[in-house]
Order: sequence, then C-alpha cells, then structure tokens
Amino acid sequence: MKNWKKLNVLGIVIIFVMAFGFIGCDPDKKDNGNNDPICECPNGTVHPLGFPCTCPVAGTSACNCTEEAEQPEFRETTIIFNFINTRMGNAICSAKIQGTLLNSEWSGVPESLKSTIDEAYSTGNTVAKSVFEDTFNAIYNAIITVEKTTEYSIFKVTGVFTLSLNIDNIDKLLDQSVLGGGVNIVKAVRAMDSNNLIME
Ligand SMILES: [Zn+2]
Ligand SMILES: [Zn+2]
Repeated sequence: MKNWKKLNVLGIVIIFVMAFGFIGCDPDKKDNGNNDPICECPNGTVHPLGFPCTCPVAGTSACNCTEEAEQPEFRETTIIFNFINTRMGNAICSAKIQGTLLNSEWSGVPESLKSTIDEAYSTGNTVAKSVFEDTFNAIYNAIITVEKTTEYSIFKVTGVFTLSLNIDNIDKLLDQSVLGGGVNIVKAVRAMDSNNLIME
C-alpha cells in the first residue's frame, strides 16, 4: 500500500508539472500577467534573413528571436576610368572589381577604387600614365579582387593584369610605398603590367 501511495503522489506531481508546462508553452498566451506584450515565438527562434520577428516586442530585449546572419556573397562590377589609351586607338580603360563580401563591406568600394586609380593616374608621371593606360586597356580585362586577408597588408599582384587588395587598407593605396617607386597603387599597377608577383 505504501508503494502504491507513493506512486499516486508521484502521478499527481507529474500531472501538475505537465499542466504547468502546457500553460508555459501556450502559444495563445499574449501577456506576462501584467498585460504587457510579450514575444510570441519560442525561445531561441531564428528568423530568416530579411524577415525579422514581428511580435509586439520585436527589437527589444523582451523578444526571444534573432535574425539569420548575412553571409558574404560574390559581387562584381566593372569600373571605367577617366583616362583612355591614346596610343591604342583611344581605347577605353576599365577594370573588373570583384569580391566575396557582405553588402556593407562591398558598398562604396568600386567607387573608391575608381577615384583612387583616376587620381593616381592624373598625378602620375608620363611613365606611370602609360603603364596605367596599358594595364587597364579594356581588351586586357584587368581584374581587381578585394578581400579580407591577413596574408598581406595592402596589395598582392597575382598575375598579369590581376591584383588583390586588402579591404582594410584600400585607403593606403595612395600612400607612399615603403620601398619607394611612388604610391602603392602605382607600384601595384606596374607589377600587374609586368607580371611581377609582389605583395606589400
Ligand atoms: Zn520571433
Ligand atoms: Zn519576438
């Protein structure tokens, strides 16, 4: 009899726990007892990117939810420079800019590179100008890859007409190169033109 009573008490406890649990999980419950609005999603809900929680307390610490993190995406665009190659039939000078980045990282980079390279060209000497005109002649399809990297600080020439840039130091492209030879971007473009695989 004693064991039977113990089981009975245990059964009642289990029923209470279950009942309490059901109340706690009641999806129709919309307040916390103080008539304050609460989050309607289960704890730890992750909503898809672009579809944040729409519960009454969304955006506050009372919301249980997070939004899926943005993933880096491959992005590319072609920029056309202000200079042309007068020695080759007034050819357009351009470069493809590409990178696998978040939108916020990519935003403004192509425009910044265009103005950097246009400025380096316009302030460069005659030799630098002709190297820029040759390297970025549209027929050569020059490619500049922008990346997050710790392998190099500012730039890495990866082949003829291909250049990689460290996104964190794009603003240093117009700085004087530590090894001389003009600003970093001039040094990099000269190396692109001659397939000189250097990094800085
Ligand atoms: Zn939610
Ligand atoms: Zn919520």
